[in-house]
Order: sequence, then structure tokens, then C-alpha cells
Amino acid sequence: MSDANILVIEDEPEIRKFLKVVLTGNDFKPVFAETGKDGLKLATLHPPEVIIMDLGLPDMDGIEIIQNIRGWSNIPIIVLSARGQEADKIKALELGADDYLTKPFSTGELLARLKVALRRARSGETQSSPVIEIGEMKLDLEKRQVFVAGVETHLTPIEYKLLAVLVKHAGKVVTQKQLLLDVWGKHSTENSHYLRIYAQHLRQKLGDDPLKPRYIINEAGIGYKFREKVAVASAAEA
Ligand code: CA
Repeated sequence: MSDANILVIEDEPEIRKFLKVVLTGNDFKPVFAETGKDGLKLATLHPPEVIIMDLGLPDMDGIEIIQNIRGWSNIPIIVLSARGQEADKIKALELGADDYLTKPFSTGELLARLKVALRRARSGETQSSPVIEIGEMKLDLEKRQVFVAGVETHLTPIEYKLLAVLVKHAGKVVTQKQLLLDVWGKHSTENSHYLRIYAQHLRQKLGDDPLKPRYIINEAGIGYKFREKVAVASAAEA
């Protein structure tokens, strides 16, 4: 897991210092850029395994950097942003960022998200099998069947669609808008109450506790995330 090359694009010296201590202390190999331009250059010259980047940079909008990188790479991108910048986070996720951290964030939060991003990067984004198993849940995309602990669970077509979208992006936050678009279509992108209702149905059917969800994690005001695929050893991450 460690010794991974991490590119950090961040203009605030304190945050760079904090990240340097945490990342090198956990055997990662961070490389730092203070501007968007330098960050992009480094990302192109020596593609890292994960990019951690601030959205508010002196020379470029972080959103532009994400767009640029997504034009040629699927390197996981974790965005750093200030509290209250929900719209920016949503935009970053919609353009292909994988996750976000709200400043100030703890060492535990940072490492947990970084590990998920690395697992995604190392397991490969491409879905090679129609059967996806996460924890006790098994989703067969070909037969459109869902099993929990070996027992088939019947889902309505909407519930199934929602689950399939979330699972295909497991470990990654999917925005409300994207979920509404993918599951209900382009005329429903404002109906976030659909999501709340159906996420609750799905949790019930998967045997998930909304207070301590194992599968469907709500990112308040942003979207939902399905638990990542290889999470057996990560129970103590939080
Ligand atoms: Ca900044």
C-alpha cells in the first residue's frame, strides 16, 4: 500500500507541511507543487499513483486541472477544499475527482481516503467480470441479481439501477445530480428527495444500518458513496 508516489498540489505552506509529515511518516513518497502549472507539469512528467490537490490555487482554478488530467488519465484525484465550498466539491466530483477532504482534516481521514484511492488505482478501474462482490453483497450485472450473505434480495428496477450505479463507482463519491441523471433521467436532476427515499430502501434490503452504514455512505449535501471493494482490513480506518 505504501511507498506510493503521491503528487500534492497545494499553495498553503502549512498544509504542505502537514501533508509532508503525515505522508512521509506513513512511507508514502510525496512530491509537492505550489502552483497549478507546476502540478500539471509534474503529473505529466512523472505520473503519480494518486493526486491530492487544493481547489483554490494562485495561478489556476483546480477545476481546470482536473479537466486537464481527466483528458488523459484516470489517476485518482482527492480534492482539498474549505468548509462551505460545496458547489466546488460537487463540480470537482462531476468532472472526475474521486473524493474530497474538507479542511481542516485529520490524519486518519486523509490516510483512509488515500488508501481507498490507492486500492482503486491498483485494482484497475476496468470491470472485467459481471459479478461484483463487496462485503457480503454480491451483484450480478449480467443476470441483474443481488445477493446478501448468499440470499437473493429482490429489488425494484429503480433500486437496482441505483445500486448498480453506486457499485460501479464503489469507493468513489457519486454526486446527487449524477445519480439522479443516471437512475431517473435528465428531467429529475432536482429531485434529491427520490435519492433519500431510495437510498433508504436499498439500505433496508441490503441489511444496512443508516446510523452505521456498511455499504451506502451518505456524503451530506454532496452525494453517496458505496463502500469500496477490498475493505476487509480497513474496519479500523475511521
Ligand atoms: Ca489554496
